[in-house]
Amino acid sequence: MTKEARALRELQERLRGCRECPLGDIGTQTVGGEGRGPLMLVGEAPGDHEDIQGRPFVGPAGRLLDSALERLGWPRETVYLTNAVKHFKFEMRGKRRIHKTPAQREIAACHHWLDEEIALLRPKAIVALGATAAASLLDRKVAVMRERGNWLVRGDGRPVLVTLHPSALLRLRGVEREEAIERWLEDLRRGTEPPPGI
Ligand code: SF4
Repeated sequence: MTKEARALRELQERLRGCRECPLGDIGTQTVGGEGRGPLMLVGEAPGDHEDIQGRPFVGPAGRLLDSALERLGWPRETVYLTNAVKHFKFEMRGKRRIHKTPAQREIAACHHWLDEEIALLRPKAIVALGATAAASLLDRKVAVMRERGNWLVRGDGRPVLVTLHPSALLRLRGVEREEAIERWLEDLRRGTEPPPGI
């Protein structure tokens, strides 16, 4: 096992015991990142499927992301997938657990875990999937629709490309969804091409 893989495993073990915000007391388990490689994709938080399986991007949004990665020719295991917040936030509606967006204080509490992943993996580029990921990565509020597809720079100098979270595309239907997916793929494709100098 490489030094990096050992450090990542150690991080996952520490993460498992995290109770630094109230989300640690609900749901099934923490969901850390998986994969490796020069490109890191960051989502918002685990959903219902991720919470149960303990893996990121394994629900409907994950399936859409998988199909995008396949179309881009990036095998899932060649990118690192993670979330800004590592616990599922939800409310019960009948027997269903309905996803809730993490609060700013929960994003802030979880921020250091994402920073640790970045420091450890040293990705060449990071793609922020949605507003929560973008805000956590860039330490400011990000208007995704206005700033999507552009290269921005984190405080540590790493380039961040902002685009939509796949769950936003799942809310669309028909031609509108098809067109939105094509535009999303264009954004993602740029993720492997950070401009020189950034
Ligand atoms: S959401 Fe993040 S900070 Fe909060 S308990 Fe879970 S791992 Fe810890």
